[in-house]
Amino acid sequence: MTWTPESWQTKPVAQHPTYPDPAALQEVLAQLKRLPPLVTSWEVNKLKAEFAAAQRGERFVLQGGDCAESFADCRPELITNRLKVLLQMSLVLTHGLKTRVTRVGRFAGQYAKPRSADLETKNGLTLPSYRGDLVNAPEFTPEARRPDPQRLLDGHTRSAMTINFVRGLIDGGFADLHHPEYWDLDWVQHAPLAAEYQTQVDAIGDSLRFMETLAGAPISDFQRVDFFTSHEALLLWAEQAQTRQVPRQPGWYNLSTHFPWIGLRTAALDGAHVEYCRGIANPIGVKVGPSMGIDWVLALCEALNPQREAGKLVLIHRMGAGKIEQHLPALVEAVRKSGHPVLWLCDPMHGNTQSTSNGLKTRAFDDIAGELTSAFAIHRAAGSRLGGVHLELTGEDVTECVGGARNLTETDLERAYRSQVDPRLNYEQALELAMKIVGVQGR
Ligand code: PEP
Ligand code: MN
Repeated sequence: MTWTPESWQTKPVAQHPTYPDPAALQEVLAQLKRLPPLVTSWEVNKLKAEFAAAQRGERFVLQGGDCAESFADCRPELITNRLKVLLQMSLVLTHGLKTRVTRVGRFAGQYAKPRSADLETKNGLTLPSYRGDLVNAPEFTPEARRPDPQRLLDGHTRSAMTINFVRGLIDGGFADLHHPEYWDLDWVQHAPLAAEYQTQVDAIGDSLRFMETLAGAPISDFQRVDFFTSHEALLLWAEQAQTRQVPRQPGWYNLSTHFPWIGLRTAALDGAHVEYCRGIANPIGVKVGPSMGIDWVLALCEALNPQREAGKLVLIHRMGAGKIEQHLPALVEAVRKSGHPVLWLCDPMHGNTQSTSNGLKTRAFDDIAGELTSAFAIHRAAGSRLGGVHLELTGEDVTECVGGARNLTETDLERAYRSQVDPRLNYEQALELAMKIVGVQGR
């Protein structure tokens, strides 16, 4: 079947809201289509080349950010803190793994969420579920939960502001390796791992000065880094409106993000999300869970990367600490045998979600670290390579995941639980996890 940016509309589409006023939706989409995009095809191609390098073992990919961004959190201090923690983690990973790190933020467009039920009932009232700020609002009122197409424009604007601020910080020198102190968060001195982190920062500073002495000049490569963006390609109306052809490049690009991914709930082979993603030139991620059979995953590889292009397809497994040993080895072996070039990432968050006795969603640091440790070992044993990680994290001092160096307990969760959706690693836990990755993989 021929692909067009609209051909997904002929397929069953999961996880989409029903807009009460379809004409208003079409009007907004027409506006969205005329606005400038958020990223360029050059950047998308560059990320694909970096993913190909990660597949070859020459890079490690760090993908991370909030489960869902919210419109209210489009604030400079929150954006800066998220950037800080990703920069600090990538410093730890580069130093410990002795490899270059590709940074992919889960931001500047991560505004739509899949839900397990279309409707929610409270005190006898039934309303549509909250599907992320791109669709509706979390408050439990009929007005808030009504899908509003105007939100597509608001989401585009906020994504543009976010990416503009990130680009400005990075181009202005915020990511300069000569100044890792720019990335310190206020309370970093009190973190249990602060001393270990500082030792690594000092070692990098020494190496940098040594190399620049030899070179006789500052090395400009160390003054800036690249940052890429990603989000779940969930609300296909929005994705379609940003799907463009560009001069002198073949094919169609989704220019709302560098790296869209297909979530677990929308990975049906004959579904709309796979149909949309198979036609765009961007690298594509797919979440792979324990319920997906090997044939399904191989068919996804064939559908999404029929040309077997390097750096094109990223399989993000999210099995859970208790299931990874059972499900991953055969899958890795089957993909290897098929000859499909894929980049493997591990998402150790989504298979490890539990509820506390108070009904809060949480994840245990040890389960997260345990799944990652198994993932590295399983790939190594199969002659494959885990090329990176996909994490939900924040630069804030939240208490959403239990465990870690400060040993947060269920009681601590009440102190600073802010997520509307999934629990995130806080700043200290994220940094600790980066050190853990180095511990299991780097030596
Ligand atoms: C997510 O990444 O927030 C998510 C919903 O993941 P998954 O599709 O793997 O469940
Ligand atoms: Mn999530």
